[in-house]
Amino acid sequence: MKREVLGIRFDDLTREEAAQAGSALLAEDKFHYVVTPNPEFILAAEKDAAFRQVLNEADLVLADGIGVVYSAKLQGTPLKGRVPGIEFAADMLACLNRTGGRLYLLGAKPGVAEEAGQRILERHPNITLCGTQDGYFQDEEAALLKVAAARPDLLFVCLGAPKQEKWMARWGRHTGARLAIGLGGALDVFAGRVERAPESWQRLGLEWAYRLKKEPQRAGRMAKLPLVLVKAAGERFKKA
Ligand code: UDP
Repeated sequence: MKREVLGIRFDDLTREEAAQAGSALLAEDKFHYVVTPNPEFILAAEKDAAFRQVLNEADLVLADGIGVVYSAKLQGTPLKGRVPGIEFAADMLACLNRTGGRLYLLGAKPGVAEEAGQRILERHPNITLCGTQDGYFQDEEAALLKVAAARPDLLFVCLGAPKQEKWMARWGRHTGARLAIGLGGALDVFAGRVERAPESWQRLGLEWAYRLKKEPQRAGRMAKLPLVLVKAAGERFKKA
């Protein structure tokens, strides 16, 4: 079931349900893409109709941040919970490992995707890492041709939003992949260059605060996020 939060139609799924849905997409012989919007995406999509369309046309729209879950609740249309992109990605890697499929990592600074790939293979030895490419390319089509030549099944696209979503919607079906996922900074995490918040912080819904503590330069970017909550609360009163 879909739940609309400020113009973005999210799939109302638990992590387990999202993993099941993702596995089914990965088994189907056609291209699919998954997006993992957080409150920053919602604000950006308000001003960028093309981005909003690309998000809403995805095969799965997962609520990546606690801010999306709070917003849905404030609106009066609660979601089952959040499904962090990085956890969905880990579930898809486990699934690919079971079938022995091909993985391509696109994005992040030079060297990061290779490092991430090595670490992923240590945990998932049945996966074939069929290629990596950093995310600072100039020519979108040339980047696509490299991906397509590697014939991936699963493709992580980690270019930051909205670049990664627009790239997937425009070029994804030409890659030959069955499933592409837009994952922001996930390759930095898989490579071990950025650490996720400890579980205790995650359980309290404070992953964002941990990130701010580690990367205080994000403060400017994050300052406008409470706006999403205010807007969501406003939606509820509109309905009342
Ligand atoms: N990135 C990229 N190409 C670009 C811009 C960003 O590959 O043109 C990468 C960047 O190196 C980082 C990721 O995209 O690994 C996105 O990082 P950000 O922190 O913006 O995303 P978030 O984790 O907040 O979704």
